[in-house]
Amino acid sequence: MSIFGELFAIPDQPWVRDAVCATADPEAWHPPTGHSTLPARLICVDCPARKECLRWALEHNETEGVWGGYSPRQRQRLRRGERVELPTRPERGEPLECARCGVGFEATHGTAKYCSRYCSKNAQTERQQKKRQALREQAA
Ligand code: SF4
Ligand SMILES: [Zn+2]
Repeated sequence: MSIFGELFAIPDQPWVRDAVCATADPEAWHPPTGHSTLPARLICVDCPARKECLRWALEHNETEGVWGGYSPRQRQRLRRGERVELPTRPERGEPLECARCGVGFEATHGTAKYCSRYCSKNAQTERQQKKRQALREQAA
């Protein structure tokens, strides 16, 4: 199940409404094997629901996907009581994967998430569409 589906399957949790990933490309939170979780984790860092999301994932032993800014392996380390730093901003020139289309690109600035203006603009439109869709489904 996508993180979008997982989040909306969580009943009565007010923080789910603030979840940034609920309106983003869910694949970034469940990247195929060998792909970086960094684009999703960088988005989590600024998510207003991050702490509650992480608490939920740890309490419910979520073993897949990015939750609260951490990959599954990093959450295992947190459970063992190890300290795991949240990701910092990418350095200029650092190789990243576009959070929308998955294409590799070099970060041009510290908050780079998308490969192009095209993806950035479309990601925004898709977020709005998904939000509207979710609201319609809630109202139905
Ligand atoms: S912290 Fe990340 S995974 Fe959790 S709700 Fe926010 S964006 Fe989604
Ligand atoms: Zn892209």
